[in-house]
Amino acid sequence: MSISHLARSIGESATLKLNERAKLLADQGQPVIHLGGGEPKNKVPITAILSSTAKLTAGDVKYVPTDGTPSLKKAIIRYTEENYGWLVAPENVIVSSGAKQALYNVLVSIIDPQDEVIVLAPYWVSYPEMVKMVYGRPVIVKPEDGTFQPRIEEIEQAISSYTKAIVVNSPNNPSGFVYNADFIAEVVELCEQRGIYLIMDDIYHKLVFDGMRPPSPYQYTDKNIETSKIIVINGVSKLYGMTGFRIGWTIANRPLVEVMKNVQAQTTSCPANVSMAAAEGALNGVQSTVESLRLSIQNNRDVMMNELRAFSALRIIKPRGTFYCLPDFRAIGNSSEELAELLLSRALVVTVPGKEFGAEGHLRLSYCGSVKDITEGMKRIRWALDPEAPNEIYIGDRRMVRDWL
Ligand code: PLP
Repeated sequence: MSISHLARSIGESATLKLNERAKLLADQGQPVIHLGGGEPKNKVPITAILSSTAKLTAGDVKYVPTDGTPSLKKAIIRYTEENYGWLVAPENVIVSSGAKQALYNVLVSIIDPQDEVIVLAPYWVSYPEMVKMVYGRPVIVKPEDGTFQPRIEEIEQAISSYTKAIVVNSPNNPSGFVYNADFIAEVVELCEQRGIYLIMDDIYHKLVFDGMRPPSPYQYTDKNIETSKIIVINGVSKLYGMTGFRIGWTIANRPLVEVMKNVQAQTTSCPANVSMAAAEGALNGVQSTVESLRLSIQNNRDVMMNELRAFSALRIIKPRGTFYCLPDFRAIGNSSEELAELLLSRALVVTVPGKEFGAEGHLRLSYCGSVKDITEGMKRIRWALDPEAPNEIYIGDRRMVRDWL
């Protein structure tokens, strides 16, 4: 069997591997707690269900325009105006099968072999792999001071004549960090000075806490959508709990959208009409569902923070958005894969190794599940790793004694 060099260079997902093992254990009736999840449990908005079932019952399930249906684009244009203050044209919008495909299509469309893309650590696992998949080179910028906020000088130093783009994800997966407005303004300025694309992955942009509002990059440019190299990626997966519908979109200048349309036409033809109708239903429906999701996740974040503070060996930067946090476990162990493995095998808790996100020694913990899962999961994590925690615990109906610390 002959496999391409490119495909071989793409990393295996440790997350999927752990998830598979967790599923096996759960199928065997083991009381597994999932703190590794990447999707909220909330119900899909009823308006999304109604508009997609209407398409199904009418049999309106054929190919549709490659870049998205005009009615969904209209809803996206309104969303962009309301949330970003920019009025864009239908030609500035392309709908894809998830924000993931949107991002990939952007990269295929702008990257030549050897071009470099700056990725800020900690980063979503797919960015470096996707850059490699289009024969580009990911250049990782990791804040030297151990925080999640890089300095603009650190980014500047990473720029070379091959740099084509910077990816910024705020609020950030995996840390829950929200970059401040000054930083976003500086990145916009830097990109404009150097003629670099700024790719904003805004998939979590409304899941922010403590009264924060993530800054819109558009407010820091004098350019307009046609002259700007700002690209905004968004979707319905996280805010509306619609991960399975696979709808995301890109807002960019017309020439780029035109090229992305060709790329999409030759690969997936178009996003599914039923899913686009669902996204349209969500965007045009009452938006209180997003606010109630945000409030319940903020409450979960507070519960998680209380639990983490009780574990004195950990260092934690309070997350201000998403449904993830990234505590530093280095006082306990440097290998995040070993820590995650120990937590799964001994305590039946799923976590994600920080190594996957460019943050070795950290574990990503999700708080998108129930409060009960967060408290029970954290109780087990402390039992497994914290010498100050009692060394006996019940996991399900089994009494367990810790004998490895
Ligand atoms: N961007 C980030 C930062 C994510 O965390 C995810 C999903 O986990 C995506 C994009 C992908 O979103 P979608 O499900 O719409 O493809």
